[in-house]
Amino acid sequence: NKKVVIIGSGIAGLAVAIRLRNQNFEVEVYESNSYPGGKLTEIRTKGYRFDCGPSLFTMPQFVEELFTISDKNVKDYFEYEKKEVVCNYFYEDGTKFKALANTEKFAKEAEKTFDVENAQILQYFENSKLKYDLTSSLFLNKSLHKLSTYLSLDTIRAITRINSLGINKNLHGLNAKQFKDPRLVQFFDRFATYNGSSPYLTPGIMSMIPHLEQYYGTFFPKGGMHSITKSLYKLATDLGVTFHFKSKVDEIVTNNKKATAVIVDGVKKGADLVISNMDVVPTYRKLLSNQKSPEKTLKQPRSSSALIFYWGIKKEFPELDLHNIFFSKNYKEEFEYIFEKKQVFDDPTVYINITVKNESNDAPRGCENWFVMINVPGNEGQDWDKIIDKSRKNILNKLSKLLKMDIEELIETEEILDPRSIESNTQSYQGSLYGSSSNNKYAAFLRHPNFSKSIKNLYFCGGSVHPGGGIPLCLLSGKIVSELIQKDFKP
Ligand code: FAD
Repeated sequence: NKKVVIIGSGIAGLAVAIRLRNQNFEVEVYESNSYPGGKLTEIRTKGYRFDCGPSLFTMPQFVEELFTISDKNVKDYFEYEKKEVVCNYFYEDGTKFKALANTEKFAKEAEKTFDVENAQILQYFENSKLKYDLTSSLFLNKSLHKLSTYLSLDTIRAITRINSLGINKNLHGLNAKQFKDPRLVQFFDRFATYNGSSPYLTPGIMSMIPHLEQYYGTFFPKGGMHSITKSLYKLATDLGVTFHFKSKVDEIVTNNKKATAVIVDGVKKGADLVISNMDVVPTYRKLLSNQKSPEKTLKQPRSSSALIFYWGIKKEFPELDLHNIFFSKNYKEEFEYIFEKKQVFDDPTVYINITVKNESNDAPRGCENWFVMINVPGNEGQDWDKIIDKSRKNILNKLSKLLKMDIEELIETEEILDPRSIESNTQSYQGSLYGSSSNNKYAAFLRHPNFSKSIKNLYFCGGSVHPGGGIPLCLLSGKIVSELIQKDFKP
């Protein structure tokens, strides 16, 4: 059997390991941490459990597919439930909006809260669906860097409808044209942050994202987000994938423009194929430093990073649910701070994720586990300690005002993650959450392909390469790589 070495056990590394094991490859995963999952991990402290990274789970079918192709019963490994309340929104002017999963109910609630008619909302979701249906097969499901993708019927269909896709407008411009109520515009603008971009820069085609949330739904995995990692890791080991933890790969060895091995702790580990699930920038800079690198690709601006406070809160808040957003009063300025000034705005949009709303064991009785996150720029050497101090105060002021109670005195434990620690924990360049940003209309084409154009037998998966970041796209990158390999290594 041919031997594959995978560098990194992030969600995409796990997915490609499972797929290639199913194709009968011998699969070895080298992971520098002592645990699998990369960004998709958890922390436990003083009776509280926190999901560390991703908190919003969409498109569970991509996880399920990994069990189905392995002939396993998903329920033996992984369970999840659909959320009826998607997210609670709080505005500075006191407006509250509960985004409901049922589209009809959502539209009715929006009509009650905002200056909008039911039918306008339903039309927006229709357009959102159209964009997704027209483009998903081109942008998400295949390599964007193979000629065959462009010769397919789906692609030709998308190109003939290009004007309806909103590529030439930014998302905010598109939303402001559809809705006159600025609160609703802000609601739909927020979807740009799902891939770490700015609504004032990302193209209008991103208005397809609400369709994914609204049509396919949002979910909560039993045991929390970390159970996605746990169940895929278990599946991979059950299938016979070998994992080596605390095993940092220092070099990808090439011979005659072909990847032949990796170096771990000074020892050469031979391979027929190498797949990097490490961020593509350090893969080139550190593991392939003697090779010519695709500079234009590596210099693409990165997506935003995050500052997260994990707070154990000794009180329950019935007005909050699993996902909660406290909007900034000035969204435009907030994004200018992140992407232009590379600093943090004093009135940031605050996201709170509280898994104890679904998993009663995640916090002591009567308490809540708050994952409190703001979007921040990538790490370019800013004074993060100062930013953390200032942001902590700003966040506490905002939450205390909107929840009408002193939040600081309720905090009984605190952990902090910032762009520096995201970078050092997972090697994600500048601590970006989603690889390169989608802040221009060519971004999809400028992401690194899922294979190397100059080194044979070298492939790439994960949030920094095509089709992009976030759990669903990372899982798709694993699928695209396995399909490329199946073609390249036809028996
Ligand atoms: P990563 O998770 O980046 O893991 C890469 C792995 O490779 C790591 O384990 C690392 O240790 C290992 N590695 C790196 N270099 C080496 C080396 N040289 N040798 C060996 N091992 C190496 N996505 C969503 O879908 N929903 C969300 O709500 C969401 N929120 C997020 C919030 C935060 C705070 C963060 C950080 C991310 C969030 N994301 C979210 C994004 C999502 O987490 C990522 O897109 C996804 O998990 C990235 O997976 P990956 O496969 O690219 O690998």
